[in-house]
Amino acid sequence: MLSQKALLLGAARRPELRRLVTGNPATRRVVDRFVPGETLEDALAAVRRLTGEGIAVTLDHLGEGVTDRAEATRSRDAYLALLEGLAPLGLGRAAEVSVKLSAFGQALPGGGTDLALELVRPVAEAATAIGTTVTLDMEESTTVDSTLAVLAELRRDHPGTGAVLQAALHRTEEDAAALAVPGSRVRLVKGAYDEPPSVAFQGRHEVDAAYARCLGVLVRGAGYPMVGSHDPRLIAIARRLAGQTGRTPDSWEVQMLYGIRPGEQRRLTDAGVCVRAYVPYGADWYGYFMRRLAERPANLRFFLRSLVTTS
Ligand SMILES: Cc1cc2nc3c(=O)[nH]c(=O)nc-3n(C[C@H](O)[C@H](O)[C@H](O)COP(=O)(O)OP(=O)(O)OC[C@H]3O[C@@H](n4cnc5c(N)ncnc54)[C@H](O)[C@@H]3O)c2cc1C
Repeated sequence: MLSQKALLLGAARRPELRRLVTGNPATRRVVDRFVPGETLEDALAAVRRLTGEGIAVTLDHLGEGVTDRAEATRSRDAYLALLEGLAPLGLGRAAEVSVKLSAFGQALPGGGTDLALELVRPVAEAATAIGTTVTLDMEESTTVDSTLAVLAELRRDHPGTGAVLQAALHRTEEDAAALAVPGSRVRLVKGAYDEPPSVAFQGRHEVDAAYARCLGVLVRGAGYPMVGSHDPRLIAIARRLAGQTGRTPDSWEVQMLYGIRPGEQRRLTDAGVCVRAYVPYGADWYGYFMRRLAERPANLRFFLRSLVTTS
C-alpha cells in the first residue's frame, strides 16, 4: 500500500489535482505560511525582514519540471531579475539564490543537461558579479548525476557554487566525500522525494543515521557544510561536530525553510550560529507546497481542516 507521503508526492505531479488545490481560495492561507508571496517585491520584503534579524537567505523562484525551452528561458530571466533586485541591497553572500535545474530544462529530451547548464551559467555570472553564490537544489535521484555534472562545470568559473546532497540516497556518503574539498559548499538534507528501496533508505531512523554519517564527512572535510534540517537532534550533532573539529562559526551554517521553526531560527542566530532561511516565492508553488505537506502529517491535517471550515 502506498504511504501518505508517497500519495502526496504523487499528487504533486497530477495536473487535475493541481487545479483543484490551487483554485481553492482557502489553500492560500496555508500556503502563506511557507511562501512569502508571488512577486519579486514580496520576496525582497522577506529578504529585508530576515536579514534585518541577522538571518541570511537563499531565494528560490518557484518552478520545476519545465517542458519546453521557452519556459526554461523564463526561469533564467526570473533569476536574473531577482539578482538585479538584490544588487542595491548590497547584502553579498547574506542573500544567495537556489535553483532547481528542472526549471532550466534539465528534463527536456536530447540535451537537457546541456540546456540547463547554458541557462544557469548567466545566473551564476550575475550572482558572482554582486558577490554572492548559487546553490543547485537536488531533485529526484534520477537527476543526481546530471546535477553534479552541471555543478562541476559551474565550479570551474564560480567555485562557490553550492550543491545539495540527500542523506536518504545510498550513494550520498560517497558523494559527500568527493565534495568535502576546499571551496566547496554542500547543503545536506534528508531528501524530499519518494525514492525506491533500490536507491534510498526507507525508514526514518535509517535516514537520520545516514544524515549523521554524511554530516561527519562534511564537517571533518575541507568544504563549507550547510546543515539543511529542522531536526533538533541533527542540529545538535552538527554543533558538537563543529566544536570538536575546531570550526569557527563562519565556516559552516544551518539552513531552514521559510516559515518552519522560525523561533528556532532566531534562537540559533542569537546563540551565534550562522542561519540561512530558504525563501521560495512565485506563482508556481504547488509542487513545493505538496512536499511540505508530505513531510508532516500535521500540515496535511491543518490544510484539510482549513478547506472544510471555509467551504
Ligand atoms: C534549507 C533547506 C533546503 C532544502 N533543499 C532540498 C533539496 O534541494 N532537495 C531535497 O530533496 N530536499 C530539500 N529540503 C527538504 C529536506 O529534504 C526535508 O524534506 C525537510 O527538511 C524535512 O526534513 P528535516 O531534516 O527538517 O527533518 P524532519 O524529521 O522531517 O523534521 C524535524 C522537525 O522539523 C519540523 N518540520 C520539518 N518539516 C516540516 C514541515 N514541512 N512543516 C512543518 N514543520 C516541519 C517539525 O518540527 C519536525 O518535527 C530542504 C530543506 C531545507 C531545510
